[in-house]
Amino acid sequence: MDLTAESHSIPLSDGHSIPLMGLGTYGDPRTTLKGTTYESVKLAIETGYRHFDGALVYFNEHEVGQAIRDKIADGTVKREDIFYCGKLWNTFHSPDLVRPALEKTLKALQLEYVDLYIVEMPTAFKPGDTFYPKDENGEWIYCKTDLCATWEVECHPYFTQPKLLEYCQQHDIIIVGYSPLGTCRDASWVNLKCPPLLEDELLASIAKKYNKNTAQVALRFNVQRGVVVIPKSFNPARIKENFQIFNLSLSDAEMKAIEGLNKNIRFVELLMWSDHPEYPFHDDY
Ligand code: NDP
Repeated sequence: MDLTAESHSIPLSDGHSIPLMGLGTYGDPRTTLKGTTYESVKLAIETGYRHFDGALVYFNEHEVGQAIRDKIADGTVKREDIFYCGKLWNTFHSPDLVRPALEKTLKALQLEYVDLYIVEMPTAFKPGDTFYPKDENGEWIYCKTDLCATWEVECHPYFTQPKLLEYCQQHDIIIVGYSPLGTCRDASWVNLKCPPLLEDELLASIAKKYNKNTAQVALRFNVQRGVVVIPKSFNPARIKENFQIFNLSLSDAEMKAIEGLNKNIRFVELLMWSDHPEYPFHDDY
């Protein structure tokens, strides 16, 4: 398949399609300045991104929606050109809360629909206004749910997910790989036992050969094997450079060598919720 900046969507079994390259929009709400998400999404649309990965719990969906609507209003894109993925947060798992939660997302975005709506994590929390509920002893308050849901999958050269990828390819399921650059390495939620992906020597040597950087090689690796990537950046130069992966093609030997980097270690391990009955990462995949 020829992938270009203008045409890099792959078909889904329901007849829709998903762009292989998307922009992740999670920034720490405590440190991300107001307006940053808005400017980043606008720039991303101008750069050519058509897929945006967001969530109610990122607390910036209103800025994502405003940017999309402004770029529709100025004629750069139409709504149907954009693929937006929203997420059901842990406090809204009970079936009667799913629709109201989606409506909150639509209200924040001020869009009429989302293109994909997924269960953010299978670990349900006590419903209510508090997104991260804890009891008086500081313990998380979980909630039992009957879970039958989809799960997004971390995926990058240190966590290549060969078994899952093979299973999904056999069943016509597309994987969206979050944290494709190895996260922001925020110690409060990232597993730092895994070394920084973007400092990897093999990625650096391949990057040098093609006059690219390690992030571009890591992204191209996944895109070239049909895995959707949603790198997050709110930095204008990096938003643009992460998109410059369509004039790069890795050889079979390079693809194999990058696959060999797999360490089976997750950056997003979320051990603080590992005692939840639905904690997803005890299982192989
Ligand atoms: P990423 O792997 O996308 O890495 C983001 C970090 O890398 C940021 O600190 C960013 O900083 C930096 N960065 C971006 N581009 C470059 C570059 N070219 N060179 C060097 N550094 C770079 O991590 P995320 O964990 O944010 O994952 C991406 C998205 O996936 C999230 O934003 C979210 O939308 C989604 N996600 C979903 C999860 C789920 O549970 N469903 C879990 C985790 C993520 P800067 O902004 O300054 O460029």
